[in-house]
Amino acid sequence: MLRTENQRKLSNYKHGLDYAKEQDKLDELSHYRQQFHIPKDKQGNDLIYLCGNSLGLQPKSTKTYINQELEDWANLGVEGHTDAKHPWLPYHEFLTEATAKVVGAKPIEVVTMNTLTTNLHLMMVSFYKPTKKRYKILIESDAFPSDKFAVESQLRHHGYDDKEGLILWKPREGEELLRYEDLESIMQNHGDEIALIMIGGVNYYTGQFFDFKRITELGHKHGCKVGFDCAHGAGNVDLDLHNSGADFAVWCTYKYMNSGPGSLGGCFIHERHAHDKNLNRFTGWWSHNKQTRFKMRDEFDVIPGAEGWQLSNPPILSMAAIRASLDMFNEVGIQKLIQKSKKLTGYLEFLLKDLGADTIRVITPEDPKQRGCQLSLQVINADKSLYDELTEAGVISDWREPDVIRIAPVPLYNSFEDVYLLVDKLKKVLENKS
Ligand SMILES: *Cc1c(COP(=O)(O)O)cnc(C)c1O
Repeated sequence: MLRTENQRKLSNYKHGLDYAKEQDKLDELSHYRQQFHIPKDKQGNDLIYLCGNSLGLQPKSTKTYINQELEDWANLGVEGHTDAKHPWLPYHEFLTEATAKVVGAKPIEVVTMNTLTTNLHLMMVSFYKPTKKRYKILIESDAFPSDKFAVESQLRHHGYDDKEGLILWKPREGEELLRYEDLESIMQNHGDEIALIMIGGVNYYTGQFFDFKRITELGHKHGCKVGFDCAHGAGNVDLDLHNSGADFAVWCTYKYMNSGPGSLGGCFIHERHAHDKNLNRFTGWWSHNKQTRFKMRDEFDVIPGAEGWQLSNPPILSMAAIRASLDMFNEVGIQKLIQKSKKLTGYLEFLLKDLGADTIRVITPEDPKQRGCQLSLQVINADKSLYDELTEAGVISDWREPDVIRIAPVPLYNSFEDVYLLVDKLKKVLENKS
């Protein structure tokens, strides 16, 4: 049923460069591409950049936003905390509303702070509370290494064996994608041993976008806490975090959120935990009541909501870059982006069908609801040389061992023409090899 529906959708596309150019003309978001710096080759031609899942491109406005803070710092020094055009003391608050919209949360549920893996640890301090009987953590078997390392170190920190305490949700033999029936049977058998389920919301390798609500309800039914790493989700898919009911989520802003290398991360803590002062957490002066923060001698008084997990006064220069990007997201609207994303990725899928199943196999789900913009191409019998030749031909994508090229047409700045040219170049590289 799904397969035929998807095939019908694919038949709406046409071949040829003219079609791609025509789609770009019809695309009401196409002008956003001009608002980004597109990396160039040595001759000064635009590279075909399909790597926004790894590092999003720089909006041209970012420089202006950062320069404003550099100027205010130069002219005002410490007074900038209160007198800057965008005062630094409440600066993180300027990001809250737009961030909440992007991830589908209420403002009280989100905060921008630290970096992703740090936030993951802070969330586990609050939501991984092992007991003698219930101490295990469930993750997906092909989790991003940092997530796996973080989770293992939490197990060790609490005195558990990091192998015995870790339960993996694995694909079946010969498959790449994870099945919910398998998660259900793990929960049936081990649900009462599991303290925390922590899933990469969009798997970095396969691009599979999980059903947060389904996983959360299943976890909660068995008494587990449930959190998601949305590094590949934020700015890419409809996360709808509040309605999912998840206890927490974390993400970075340098992938689909276009906020610069190593930029700050984001954190979601569900509203139901917002006023729970007894929830264990690590704290600092930035989690303390803003009204009395500078009296310096008060008893700790936690801020309600996600802000109550902050530790330090944040790096304003990085936040300025995030604000530049969020202003653009806010202007476009995440739903419009997702609409274009589905079209653009569907087009990529359509063109790839031409290459033949004996050369390239897409391992990302066919169902557009179960993926974002990224398609992961498994290259049959390939070594990395195919990827190297593709790079030589002016395509920026990425290679994941053993045999996957990840391609992410990002709706904000990638065009139908980018996608056409990618597949055209891929064809030529494959022809030369055979
Ligand atoms: C990109 C990514 C990270 C990176 O973590 P940092 O703390 O930002 O270095 C972690 N987890 C996932 C799932 C990622 O995709």
